This record gives sequence, C-alpha cells and structure tokens, in this order.
Amino acid sequence: MDIKKIGVIGAGQMGNGIAHVSAMNGLEVLMSDIKHQFCENGIKTITNNLERSVKKGKLEPSDKTAVLNRINTTIDLKDMESVDFVVEAAVEQQDLKFKIFQDLDKICPSNVILSTNTSSIPIGRIAAKTKRPDKVIGMHFMNPVPVMKLVEVIKGLPTSDETFNTTWKLSKKLKKIPAESNDYPGFIANRILMPMINEAIFCLYQNVGTSQDIDTVMKLGMNHPMGPLALADLIGLDTCLAIMETLYDGFKDSKYRPCPLLKKYVEAGWLGRKTGKGFYEYK
Ligand code: NAD
Repeated sequence: MDIKKIGVIGAGQMGNGIAHVSAMNGLEVLMSDIKHQFCENGIKTITNNLERSVKKGKLEPSDKTAVLNRINTTIDLKDMESVDFVVEAAVEQQDLKFKIFQDLDKICPSNVILSTNTSSIPIGRIAAKTKRPDKVIGMHFMNPVPVMKLVEVIKGLPTSDETFNTTWKLSKKLKKIPAESNDYPGFIANRILMPMINEAIFCLYQNVGTSQDIDTVMKLGMNHPMGPLALADLIGLDTCLAIMETLYDGFKDSKYRPCPLLKKYVEAGWLGRKTGKGFYEYK
C-alpha cells in the first residue's frame, strides 16, 4: 500500500515529533489528541523546532510553511477513517491503548496498519483487542523524534510479514534506521535502558550520590551523552514508572521493581521536563 497520509494519536512529545518527521518527509499528517489545547501545544512545539532549523540554515522558510501545511489536527478519533497508516502515541497506559485500538479498528478501513509507539506493552496483547491482529505492530521512535535515528520495529506473534515490511519501509521513508525486536516487555531498548535508569534512581534514594554526581559519573565515566537522571526527566517520570511496572509485571523478577523514589516523584506530579520539575528543575 502506498502510504500518503499518516494518523498520529497523541500530540505530546512523541506524537508531535512523529508528526514533524512524517510531514518533513512529504506525508500528509492528521494528529489527534483529547483537547484542542493539546493539539495546539503540539503544533507550537513543531513550529518552534522548525524555526530553529530555519535559523540554523538547515531549512528554507518556505519549506517550514509547507511542512506545517501538511499537518492537520483533530479531537475526533473518527477522522482517522481517512488515513493510510496509524501511529499511536498516547500515554503509556495499557487500558487506554486497548480502548484506542478497539476504536481505531472500527474506524479505519480494514487494510490500514495500526502501529503503536508503546515503550513496553506487548504488541500481541494490544493486537488481540482488534479484529486485525496481523496488521498491528510496534513502531517505537526515540525521543526527541526529529533528532534520534532509531526506530525499533516490533513484530507481535500475529503480525504478518507484509505489515512488518510496510512498517520497515515507512521507517526508512522517514529517514530513520529501523532495528527489529521480538515482542517481550520493554523490547530491546527499554529492557536495557530502563533498569539502568531505575538503578540510578536507587543510587539517589540510598544516598550513594547526588543527582549531579550520578549523572556526571555516567556521562564522563561511560561516555553517555546524558546522565540517566536527566534522561529520565526528558522521557517523563510517569512513562519511566509505567515501563518499569510493565517489566516487573511481565517477568515477575524483582530486579525490575520500580524504585520507591520514582513512585513518590510521580505521585507528587514531578514528572520531569514536561512539568518543570523532576530530578532537576526546568524553567
Ligand atoms: P506525553 O504525556 O508527552 O503525551 C501523551 C499525549 O497523549 C498527551 O498529549 C495526552 O493528552 C494524549 N492522550 C491521552 N489520551 C488520549 C487519547 N485517548 N487519544 C489521543 N491522545 C490522547 O507522552 P509521550 O512521552 O509523548 O509518550 C507517548 C507514548 O510514547 C507512550 O506510549 C510512551 O511510552 C511512548 N514513548 C515515549 C518516549 C519518551 O521518551 N517520552 C520514547 C519512546 C516512546
């Protein structure tokens, strides 16, 4: 199938990033969220990021306008009936994703692939909620989407080869480099990354070091571009906790238990950059 128009569910940090790269690479985009305000915030972020590229001389002002003109927004999921491919990037809550996929299954034509940007929820579990499990797949972009090259493509047990090949080709069309992962909680990226972040939070919790010292050790000692606590703030602490809980539920292995301090931060609404406070403060 020739994909000309892509539907993106969720206009948050991942959704607006996916909309941005899709429109940059010539696709029409329909981005949805639950409130107009959230859609507008998403468009504002895309506009700011495009303006930065113009200032740096990486993008012509006319291209910025053309990219923005290719993105439309909606708060009515029913409008997704007009898209050729869907990427779901709503919050990391299993029941919410189940509901969105059940609704999309009714709304979208039967040949449309329904992909999810979930960080950790098994694809087969989401696919089983639809009548097209062969057309459900994981398309896991990295944050920030316009910058990061990787897309982890996750094939659930029922995902067909055709769905996999179409998603792989679409990842390349978006100028990303795909890597294949099998369908286990956390896939490859978060199975490895999130326990490291969780352990960094345990170091803070047990007063092994301050946030700054923990991040400095990992940046300068391991050559990581960002420390694990700063990265957790970028990802969103609610998302980090949801991923740890999926890993813990999925494997029933105590090594994946989320740090109590992470739970406390999320309960307090300290979610990282998106709320202005996490392990660091943001203006
Ligand atoms: P976010 O909180 O920034 O954005 C989520 C958006 O989904 C919000 O705008 C929210 O209003 C919207 N939403 C909630 N219910 C919805 C519904 N029913 N329909 C449409 N929109 C709805 O979260 P995010 O960081 O963009 O994460 C989104 C998804 O991407 C999650 O599944 C997350 O695990 C995954 N992910 C996140 C990262 C990361 O670094 N943050 C990286 C890779 C994947």
